[in-house]
Amino acid sequence: MPLKSTLTEFIIGEQRKYSHATGGFTALLNDIRLACKRISYLIGKGALAGVHGAAAGENIQGERQMKLDVMANDIFLRTNEWGGNVGAMVSEELEAVYAIPPQHPRGRYLLAFDPLDGSSNIDVNVTVGSIFSVLRCAEGVAEPAARDFLQPGTEQVCAGYAIYGPTTMLVLTLGHGVHGFTLDREIGEFILSHPDLRIPAETSEFAINASNQRFWEPPVKRYVSECLAGRSGPRAKDFNMRWIASFVAEVHRILMRGGLFMYPKDSKDPAKAGRLRLLYEANPMAFLVEQAGGAATTGRGRILEVAPDGLHQRVPVILGSKDEVERIARYHGEHDRGVDQPFTSPLFNERSLFVQP
Ligand code: MN
Ligand code: MN
Repeated sequence: MPLKSTLTEFIIGEQRKYSHATGGFTALLNDIRLACKRISYLIGKGALAGVHGAAAGENIQGERQMKLDVMANDIFLRTNEWGGNVGAMVSEELEAVYAIPPQHPRGRYLLAFDPLDGSSNIDVNVTVGSIFSVLRCAEGVAEPAARDFLQPGTEQVCAGYAIYGPTTMLVLTLGHGVHGFTLDREIGEFILSHPDLRIPAETSEFAINASNQRFWEPPVKRYVSECLAGRSGPRAKDFNMRWIASFVAEVHRILMRGGLFMYPKDSKDPAKAGRLRLLYEANPMAFLVEQAGGAATTGRGRILEVAPDGLHQRVPVILGSKDEVERIARYHGEHDRGVDQPFTSPLFNERSLFVQP
């Protein structure tokens, strides 16, 4: 049986192919990988290690913090702060930029992460993950601050996630396709198991939290009602709906077999433009999805081109199979120009007013 590439081999191969990658970058990815292995181990122990349950407080975004949110955040910080590769870090769990302690050298890269995504799933033993995004620090910046992180997603050097499911996988892009690695627990290495992931342009699967339906905007209501109308509706085919409530797991399914994920803009809390955070959730996933041939939009523009204005800024997220994402973006455009044709199923079914060519 031929030996498959390890993650280390893969990264060094990429480093040799592309001049922008340096040894420091390889070392950074080694540390991120180690953080993910440490978290995977803890999650695997579960109740045996007493890591389930809520932590004492809330995070800075007013969300209930689980013990594992705190532990995973700590693992990410401790594993990445000492190597001299990172200049500063931003985490979902920390309000401000995390400065590298003075005893360690500072590196050229900025690391933003969600240490544990989907943590409400922890106590019910459902898949969770970690998401990360790597940016370059501008030349001449000695003390990276919040403004240094406020770069559009197109500037990401690398992004990926670890998924802690029945197997632990690391899925990564360095801007040349998307590659999946499965953790071999016996030898402790990530092995290239899913090279060159591609998202098919078409799908008949979509994921959205339907309990928010009354808060959605008309273009999203239109899209979902057309899907729900199935074979006798304007789409003339049946759709399946999925909802895991773990962003990593939703994106992973889409990378494996296509599909569409939406956490759109809604009117539930007018102060928030969406649910997911731009820097360490939407941008890294949008980068992965685009690199796999899919698309990612807020409904009104490419996610990767959003100019960030805050570390914890939220954005609407619609991503996955290209044809569906483009359709929803078109529905937003038609709605904003006042030329949309909202689909109402009774009219369609009884009098066929809205038959589309
Ligand atoms: Mn998250
Ligand atoms: Mn989280």
